[in-house]
Amino acid sequence: MANFKEEIEKRRTFAVIAHPDGGKTTLTEKLLLFGGAIQVAGAVKSNKIKKSTTSDFMEIEKQRGISVATSVMGFNYRDCNINILDTPGHKDFAEDTYRTLTAVDSVIVVMDVAKGVEEQTKKLVEVCRMRDTPVIVFINKMDREGKDGFDLLDEIEDKLKLTTCPLSWPIGMGQTFKGVYNLYQKQLNLFSPNTKYGNILGFNDINSSELEKHIGDDAAEILREEVETIEGVYPSFDKEKYLTGKLSPVFFGSAVNNFGVKELLDCFIEIAPSPVNFKTEERVIDPYEDKFSGFVFKIHANMDPRHRDRIAFLRVCSGTFQRNTNYLHVRKDKKIKFSNPTTFMASKKEVVENAYPGDIVGLYDSGNFKIGDTLTEGEILHFKGIPSFSPEQFKYIENADPMKSKQLAKGIRQLMDEGVAQLFTKNTNNRKIIGTVGQLQFEVLQYRLKHEYGASCRYEPINLHKACWITSQNETKLSEFIRKKANYMAKDKEGRDVYLAESRWMLESAQTDYPELEFHFTSEF
Ligand code: GDP
Repeated sequence: MANFKEEIEKRRTFAVIAHPDGGKTTLTEKLLLFGGAIQVAGAVKSNKIKKSTTSDFMEIEKQRGISVATSVMGFNYRDCNINILDTPGHKDFAEDTYRTLTAVDSVIVVMDVAKGVEEQTKKLVEVCRMRDTPVIVFINKMDREGKDGFDLLDEIEDKLKLTTCPLSWPIGMGQTFKGVYNLYQKQLNLFSPNTKYGNILGFNDINSSELEKHIGDDAAEILREEVETIEGVYPSFDKEKYLTGKLSPVFFGSAVNNFGVKELLDCFIEIAPSPVNFKTEERVIDPYEDKFSGFVFKIHANMDPRHRDRIAFLRVCSGTFQRNTNYLHVRKDKKIKFSNPTTFMASKKEVVENAYPGDIVGLYDSGNFKIGDTLTEGEILHFKGIPSFSPEQFKYIENADPMKSKQLAKGIRQLMDEGVAQLFTKNTNNRKIIGTVGQLQFEVLQYRLKHEYGASCRYEPINLHKACWITSQNETKLSEFIRKKANYMAKDKEGRDVYLAESRWMLESAQTDYPELEFHFTSEF
């Protein structure tokens, strides 16, 4: 089985996350260029919906096409098999990103040096922290004026609650950007916008007078002072701490200039985890177990509405997944096999015979899968860590074509399984409420119901602040709450109790009045 072990050890499965425009697409592309997975810049299309205010559905459809192609970008670098899982840039599809983060072993966060920590980054890193996912930070756009390095580290610690450890340090920025000093490898990397990767020099002793020759007197003095501060104030790199999400290495560079990217990648393959353990409700799964297990973290509908099939993205968690082999679909308690499972090498899809832990396999599906579904060789397992998050926007959904109510019900059910939005059904009158993170999700749902199911829907406003799942050890109190708040109670699609709070004040007073109840803001508790 040495082979199996080696296959696992050489895998690195991760996501690049950023606030829109931070440089995620650019960095991803440079990583793929290093891996030889693409030959020219511009091959990776920005996974972004640019027109966010108008209902430009062609744009949404195009976007869906791009994001199937770039959902997973596999490439080889040195002796590693790297899988980058793409995440939608648009904030309205943040839930897709949250789910993708449950399928990776580590994350690279890209940040614009001028902007620092932005809203979307904050939310995504919170999700990483929930699972102690190891995080590396790349501060991008050093060729522009931006914030001071130390201020940025403070901001990261403060807003992202990450303990940082700079592994490279910038020498100037913007007009005066001279390069970075790589504290990890003790190298000086000199920047010039025209060279391919910068000019890398071994540099063990920054007190040597050679430094002045390369970067000038002033910059040399500042660098020595700053490095001294870093060594005095910041923890030194500790791989164990990084792997448990307790320490985040920070790099500086400029993705568009391909500067600092190679150091990032070289360090990444050295320190980033190979496939890690996964938690299930029953037990912890070790990737090195010989029996196969995996779960579906994303479902993508086919672009072509004439074919109803979809692609379910499965993360292999243990053992070897094999083509044409029967596996147990745990929720449905039935055996299924796959004749055309695919892997994704850069933007190519290929039929795969064997897939190993860390790999993402695309399974053609005609409606068998929901997000979170598990496949095993027979064991009953339910993977944890694929929560739904409390939505932020709500609307009633109504049938606009009485002749098509069956189609509507089916469409809503399947699209909810795909994770397009969340559905709540009110206890008192069975009215259906759609919950989302952003307006575009409502539009996508309406459009897809029409085009894929021939059903029409209409939205009506509802005034809600938050939906949260409630549980309690105290059955009597729980029933009392549900009875008293009947008008504000609903069930989610799994039949769990959800409290719909009209305002922050109502939520807070419910929490105060019912200390016996637990109010959950994610569906996993
Ligand atoms: P994403 O939204 O995070 O995927 O960001 P993109 O990769 O699309 O980058 C957003 C913009 O920033 C694009 O115009 C890039 O050309 C630009 N950009 C990316 N990296 C750098 C950099 O290192 N320096 C500068 N000046 N611009 C950059």
